[in-house]
Amino acid sequence: MRATRASIHLDRFERNIAKIRAHIGSSPRILLPVKADAYGHGAERMAIAGLAAGASHLAVACADEGEALRACGIDAPILILSLAMPEEFRRIAEAGLEPLCADMKSLLALESAAQALGKRVVTHLKVDTGMGRIGCAPQDALSLAERAARSPHLALGGVCTHFPAADSEDPADVAYTFAQFQAFTDLLEDLRRRGIDPGLASCSNSGGVLQYPQMSLDMVRPGILSYGYYPGPLAKKPFEVEPVMEFLTKVVFLKRLPAGRDISYGRTWKTPRETVIATLPVGYADGYPRALSGGAAVLIRGKRYPVVGRVCMDQCMVDLGPEAEVELYDDVVLFGARESGAPDAQDIADICKTIPYEITCNINKRVPRLYGAS
Ligand SMILES: *Cc1c(COP(=O)(O)O)cnc(C)c1O
Repeated sequence: MRATRASIHLDRFERNIAKIRAHIGSSPRILLPVKADAYGHGAERMAIAGLAAGASHLAVACADEGEALRACGIDAPILILSLAMPEEFRRIAEAGLEPLCADMKSLLALESAAQALGKRVVTHLKVDTGMGRIGCAPQDALSLAERAARSPHLALGGVCTHFPAADSEDPADVAYTFAQFQAFTDLLEDLRRRGIDPGLASCSNSGGVLQYPQMSLDMVRPGILSYGYYPGPLAKKPFEVEPVMEFLTKVVFLKRLPAGRDISYGRTWKTPRETVIATLPVGYADGYPRALSGGAAVLIRGKRYPVVGRVCMDQCMVDLGPEAEVELYDDVVLFGARESGAPDAQDIADICKTIPYEITCNINKRVPRLYGAS
């Protein structure tokens, strides 16, 4: 077994989903985003665990990710949250995936692909109410929804929109989110008035779930919250979630050095006194960012020690001090243990000026994921 591994705590994941369920009430469906290999946790296992824990739908970013889930026998509805190329529609239809539609040209291409295969493809209409990323303008939604709903080759599975600032309690952001919700629910009403069943209406990501449970509509889409983190530093925290991923390694080399010895590339750090230096077989290629050089701490036997010198591609060094009680092959927590003093992916993200999403997503494929309960 490689010293460096990610332990995925499925019990914590199940408790996070149970807390989301308790917060939104019993009727909204839960769509579990498993894009980007389930934010680095492993899409297949998290999809299975998420469906068992009460999610009814899954979401991926591209056809490949959806096909991989179908190949492991998952038959739940799988939405594709990013827009696909028309030449992918055939594969999407064959795999029974549910793409978004946001413009007439691609909707017609999807319809042709469905017709050619003799299959009815479920599509979800994406409306841009303020994210500025993908989605039709609200005034174009009616003709698209009508086309999807009335086509013999398509079915309108749902209508969705996305919040850019639901994780903020800033009054301007709150007003913005309320205006988006109003525009979205106006549109849903309009569709119903014209005899179009919009299918599953959904707008809430993790930020929406936390701050606006009253906006859950038919389905919510909490990603990062399910994996145990909040969507931003300003997010409302009505309940606690637990980090699902624990990133671990082991001490593979120890040496006692006198004062004045240089450590790692660029000689950016020198031993200030006699000390013991541990080498860990983890580096930026594993997803332990180089930006942590000289900034992060790790936990060994319940104590925090600083990472010193530059993080290399596959290794890094830790200063244990002259009296460290650390032995060769001791376990090292890089982030995500529940012990007090352990860093989490939010701490790592803060040092790197990013968000926990990017930290867990970037844990490299070569790092084995081990699944179990805490
Ligand atoms: C990724 C994604 C989500 C989940 O976002 P979180 O912030 O992780 O909850 C929800 N909806 C869409 C459209 C997404 O792309």
